[in-house]
Amino acid sequence: MMTVPKEYIPHEVEPKWKAMWDMSMYHFDWNDSTRPQYIIDTPPPYPTGNFHIGNSLNWCYIDFVARYKRMCGYNVMFPQGWDCHGLPTEVKVEEIHGITKNEVPREQFRQMCRDLTLGNIEKMRATLMNLGFSVDWSNEFVTMEPAYYSKTQRSFRKMYDMGRVYQSEHPVNWCPRCETAIAFAEVEYDTRDTKLNFLNFDKLKIATTRPELLAACVAVAINPDDERYNSHIGSNVKVPLFCHEVPVISDIQVDPSFGTGVVMICTFGDKQDVRWWVEHQLPLRKAIDKNGRMTAIAGRYEGMSIPECKAAIIEDLRTQGHLYEQKTLDQNVGMCWRCDTPIEILSERQWFVKIDTDAVAKAADEISWLPEYMKVRLDNWINTMEWDWCISRQRLFATPIPVWYCKECGEVMVAKEEWMPIDPTRQQPPEACGCGCTVFEPEEDVLDTWMDSSITALHVSGWLSEHDLKLPAQLRPQGHDIIRTWAFYTILRSMALTGKRPWDSILINGMVLGEDGHKMSKSLGNVISPEEVIKDYSADSFRQWAAVGGSPGSDVMFRWKDVVAASRFFTKVWSIYRFSMSHLEDYEHAEMDVSGLEVIDRWLLSHLNRLIMSVTQSMDTYQFDEAFKAIRGFSWDILADNYLELIKSRLYGDDGTGKQAAKYTLFVTMDTLTRLLAPFAPFFAEEMFSNIDKGSIHVQSWPQARENLIDADVEKSGEFIKDVASAVRRYKSENGMALNARLEMIELYGVDMDITDLIGVTNSPVEIIAGKPDFEHVPVNVKPNMGKIGPVFRGKAKAIIDALLEENPKKVADDISKGKISVSINGEVIELEPDFVEIEKEVVSAGRSVDVLDVSGMPVVIVR
Ligand SMILES: [Zn+2]
Ligand SMILES: [Zn+2]
Repeated sequence: MMTVPKEYIPHEVEPKWKAMWDMSMYHFDWNDSTRPQYIIDTPPPYPTGNFHIGNSLNWCYIDFVARYKRMCGYNVMFPQGWDCHGLPTEVKVEEIHGITKNEVPREQFRQMCRDLTLGNIEKMRATLMNLGFSVDWSNEFVTMEPAYYSKTQRSFRKMYDMGRVYQSEHPVNWCPRCETAIAFAEVEYDTRDTKLNFLNFDKLKIATTRPELLAACVAVAINPDDERYNSHIGSNVKVPLFCHEVPVISDIQVDPSFGTGVVMICTFGDKQDVRWWVEHQLPLRKAIDKNGRMTAIAGRYEGMSIPECKAAIIEDLRTQGHLYEQKTLDQNVGMCWRCDTPIEILSERQWFVKIDTDAVAKAADEISWLPEYMKVRLDNWINTMEWDWCISRQRLFATPIPVWYCKECGEVMVAKEEWMPIDPTRQQPPEACGCGCTVFEPEEDVLDTWMDSSITALHVSGWLSEHDLKLPAQLRPQGHDIIRTWAFYTILRSMALTGKRPWDSILINGMVLGEDGHKMSKSLGNVISPEEVIKDYSADSFRQWAAVGGSPGSDVMFRWKDVVAASRFFTKVWSIYRFSMSHLEDYEHAEMDVSGLEVIDRWLLSHLNRLIMSVTQSMDTYQFDEAFKAIRGFSWDILADNYLELIKSRLYGDDGTGKQAAKYTLFVTMDTLTRLLAPFAPFFAEEMFSNIDKGSIHVQSWPQARENLIDADVEKSGEFIKDVASAVRRYKSENGMALNARLEMIELYGVDMDITDLIGVTNSPVEIIAGKPDFEHVPVNVKPNMGKIGPVFRGKAKAIIDALLEENPKKVADDISKGKISVSINGEVIELEPDFVEIEKEVVSAGRSVDVLDVSGMPVVIVR
């Protein structure tokens, strides 16, 4: 074995192993039939170029699991994907090149997006490597590459054939800024201050927050039980400013206590308008176009933006006497999750995926949710589901919808699977339409990026590949913010396309909060990057923070002090390891029988095997914080502070079974500790293992607990030895003695135990004596209380004190027990109260003066 350097320097060790590791040791074996599979449906991050701390926390969890499962004998796949498509990249490209997407040809713009994405992926890969993640790079996927998006397109075709994908004109959520339809899952609600406007509406009075939609008004609704107005039901009213007539209809959903109790129905102000529009089969009046501008039916307001139109209409309503009151109102406004712009509801021809909530709910029940309470979020979402999933987007950088329309008859032509991947804007179908026409208009819309990412589980499990389908995957790790999107859509698609649940378990991670307890954000200046932590400390310290910071599911605060503590822990383990290895230079490992071990060795091994059991259990339940805290506690409290001290005399002593037993125990402990640390601190553990055995720690097995070595009696005896040793250490220090000072004798009473290590650690003779000690408390010193004697005896005080000090302490003690102390000064007998004097006593055992320490209620007698 090599000499271990004094200091552990992560900035040398981590890059060394990063360069030396053969990453193929992490490859999944598609043809292995002996080991159970463990496939992880890793989230494909959006390639922003910055693998942030939130990603890193989640990847730490994934890596802990992947490494642990590999060591437990599983055939593990930890793939890495990149979810490339989407608006943020388009916006970035526009920014970088100073263009808008319509100023360059479609294909050129898409190429710019691809180039930017590839560069960003490169940067993020580097962080993944720096953090020591055991990614299986043979299973990397990039959603913008043909190999992946052809699967997205094939899934579209398959679901179209099943009738699960269809095209329809239907109200959809629309972001006027992104100029695209979005799905309900992408709408986020926020409370905003708005004005409720009270209007004279022909013969009625209505209140509305959206007067700019007057042109889109198609009806006015009244609750049938509202006696103020119900006589008007069935009549028509004229819309102010626009003067078109709309019917007054009855609906029990109208709340008579809100506003005036009369509601204006527009196409569409909100989701409730859509419900009424469907139920009452009302006409459609589109007042807002796809760019968020007013249409021709808005008359003189045509071309205005929504806020401009609102201001102008309110002004006109006021001057014409229609507006008679305004009230401030807190309103829940739906907003685009990407850009925070209030969404509109527009009726457009779009592509949809039919949602089967029952199938999703059933599959969700078969999946184990970690933590369990996170499942409620999916259940709640399922219960509010009203519309199908709108999957078409009016963007460029995304998977093309593989569809054309016949120029002659308008028939829809969906590409066949064997034609894919295909971009209909660049290629015509190789077949003619049923009508004989061969000229087609391409579908220019593209697919929602969730259409790509909702088949990751299928993709990594070998769907549509040369391998057998290995669905369900075992684990989906993801954030709680995308339960209603990524988790929901993945379950939906997996059930639709294969009839199988996508995974066995879903592990939800929380968010990382800044040191100030707030969500990290540039504006708060509390953003920490993982690269920063690696630079200042180490990747392993970052990983240790991730492990102990909190349990999965809960939000985790980033704290530098946790990183510092992590780094100190490595320093401590390194010194334990270095000390141990220095005694194991010529050690040849061979199994040793328990009978050859000292109590303290067995005490340590009992705790070590308990540790294996508890860490294994915590890893199996994804409680990484508990697992790591247990490792820390053992290393620090049991191993470093006690065991190593207790065995030093054997290690430095003569060769013999005692020395061999200590070496054996040390070796087993170091080897086990290295294995337990491996999933958490891959660099540190590899460095340790390089002096223990050949090969990488990351292809070794997880330690098995030897339950026969777990022994409560041995633990109790070991505990007592440890406590006696620390009591003696404290005694020496309190009495100003060197820690290796030799005491005359240490006596233990009525115990049955091995004292070898106690003799060693105290450097003093130790004896076990049967029965109980016989103590005598002998008065040895008289201490007059000046504060009391002085005021009472004044001039005589000094003489009294001198006399007391001359007196036999035993006589004074006797006097005290009788109630009065008497001293004679020049023949005069003076009496003192008992509390005027204190007596110091000494403990005497068997005629020797001793000190007695109390260790867990047992007397430990020290003869000085
Ligand atoms: Zn938007
Ligand atoms: Zn045709």
